[in-house]
Amino acid sequence: MSNKQRFLYQDFSDPKAQLVTADNNQNAYDIYCPQPSCRCLLLRTSFGNFVEKPKDKTVLLPSTEKLDPNGTTISKENANWNGTNGESTSQSTVEYWQLTDMMAFENIGFSKTVEGSGLKYLCCADCNIGPIGYHDTNAQEKEYLLVVNRVSYDVGSLISEEIV
Ligand SMILES: [Zn+2]
Repeated sequence: MSNKQRFLYQDFSDPKAQLVTADNNQNAYDIYCPQPSCRCLLLRTSFGNFVEKPKDKTVLLPSTEKLDPNGTTISKENANWNGTNGESTSQSTVEYWQLTDMMAFENIGFSKTVEGSGLKYLCCADCNIGPIGYHDTNAQEKEYLLVVNRVSYDVGSLISEEIV
């Protein structure tokens, strides 16, 4: 069993420097479900590209909860950005791990397409917590976006002292 340690985005003192590889702007660590009790590996190191999107050019997701796997329960109208997951309302951009190929995920779950918006929310494949990101089925360029502060990072034991 793995004895590695998982951290959330807000646990890092300088997440952009610590989580993003300097040479190619990718995720420096394996990405897991945000639930500490869930061991679901979502994305392996270097499979996501760090991107920032202005808030008015992206989707502000509802706060994280267990999604009904068959659910259309979350509508775009309910979407808010209440800061319960560490989002700062003063930030003008949202940061993501971007994938262009769904197969690059190790594990991921999708909601049904949200009516009227063409969005599918991403959730944990094991425990269904979400949304942790989204996929816009109407977008011209296919992309899957994981919100950087809605997942956890397995930093291993080596550098954990620097963080906590
Ligand atoms: Zn999970």
